Amino acid sequence: MRPRLHNLIFVFMALGVVVGLLLSRFGDPTAGWYETSIQWLDFFGKTVFVGLLKMIIAPLILASIVAGVTSIPSFKDAGRIGFRTLGYYIGTTTIAVGIGLVFVLVIQPGNRGGAESMRAKRMSQLVERRAEFEKETGLSAKAAEAQYLNWLVVREGEGQSGKYSRVVAKRDRTTFEMFVDDIVKPLLDNPFHALSQRNSLGIIFFALLLGLAIASLGAPARPVAEFFQAMNVVILKITGWLMAISPFAVFCLMSSIIATHGPEVFESLGWYCGTVIGGNVVHVGVLLTICAVVGRMNPLRFLRGIREAWAVAFATRSSAATLPVTVRCLIQNLGVSPKVANFTVPIGATVNMDGTALYEGVAVIFLIQIYGGMDDVGISLAMGAILIIFITAVLASVGAAAVPDAGLVTMVLVATAVHLPVYYLPFIFAVDAFLDMFRTSTNVMGDAVGAVIVDRYEAPAPPSVPAEASE
Ligand code: ASP
Repeated sequence: MRPRLHNLIFVFMALGVVVGLLLSRFGDPTAGWYETSIQWLDFFGKTVFVGLLKMIIAPLILASIVAGVTSIPSFKDAGRIGFRTLGYYIGTTTIAVGIGLVFVLVIQPGNRGGAESMRAKRMSQLVERRAEFEKETGLSAKAAEAQYLNWLVVREGEGQSGKYSRVVAKRDRTTFEMFVDDIVKPLLDNPFHALSQRNSLGIIFFALLLGLAIASLGAPARPVAEFFQAMNVVILKITGWLMAISPFAVFCLMSSIIATHGPEVFESLGWYCGTVIGGNVVHVGVLLTICAVVGRMNPLRFLRGIREAWAVAFATRSSAATLPVTVRCLIQNLGVSPKVANFTVPIGATVNMDGTALYEGVAVIFLIQIYGGMDDVGISLAMGAILIIFITAVLASVGAAAVPDAGLVTMVLVATAVHLPVYYLPFIFAVDAFLDMFRTSTNVMGDAVGAVIVDRYEAPAPPSVPAEASE
């Protein structure tokens, strides 16, 4: 029965693409039937399916980390698994950003195709803006440059989308403030608040403390360990039930996203999309090589075992929503020990985002390639700036929440680090949802390969069993 589920997901995904294309080609967004169709597609895909997955994320993270930590034999073992996992995350995220930077610097999407017309359009827009400023203030934009640039920040924000206000909300903070607000405070959150708000960092930190305390107490705390271990199995069972509706949900999510972000948005951003997607594909190739060489697992077997999680990540654009499916695929299809999968994957889904890191570097360099040298973008792509982009892209990916569009919001960190005004970010909003599908599925692949290789070093490799047979 289950093998058919994999196939069904992909058949329904393809159907979703076809229906989405038909809707975007022939549908009139102002027509009542069109609006109703999108409403129902979003209802089944986002509200029901993603809602159900989100419902189990917080208890899953808590139970799986406590179960994982308490099933690791000693503190020494926990430390070893932790360091290996961390080493893998840092290594692969760095490789991902490197691949992205090589792609964007070699392909130069900002100097090709539609990007040139974007540059020309912006140049004439800036001429208008200068005139507007001079008329409004009676000052010369050239003489009062600082004042003009401040005025521009406010002016460019007018009429922007809600996404832009989320981006702007992250601006104007020092690195220390970001560290305190985005890392320290969430880590130390009240666990009940963290659970209710789905604050992954807070849940992870509390779960690690709880697990370590239970393990260090031994016999008196054993019932608590058993409770969380049983709870974890129960949540995996619920995930199995939810997967029954996944093909239809994936169909709804795909149709809606393709219909609302129709192919025409790619006209001017085609090269950019190609660069991000190409980088992701190469990075997945690197991950599969690591899986084969270090994890000693046949990449085809890995792909077969993880495909449900890949498809759900692609359609939902959320590593967090995919988390239950990733854990399930690793344990049930790929034979990864629950101890390693439970411990590493929730942490990976929260902090290890290879696709997001790659994307952030490419996006900022792409924008500098197009708009560099204009009145308000006095940056050149010198080695120093590239290095800053490299480092901040890694950090921004760690800080990104595992939800749709999160990478776009944390890109502010990368953009501001090299003084690219954040009002340039909306220029790539149109294709962001589309690229989010690729980066999220890469993020999930990265977490899954990490679990495979850490597991490989924890236990002798089991005799190779075909994925289908192990299910
Ligand atoms: N959507 C991504 C994820 O959930 C994060 C991002 O926007 O890059 O992994």
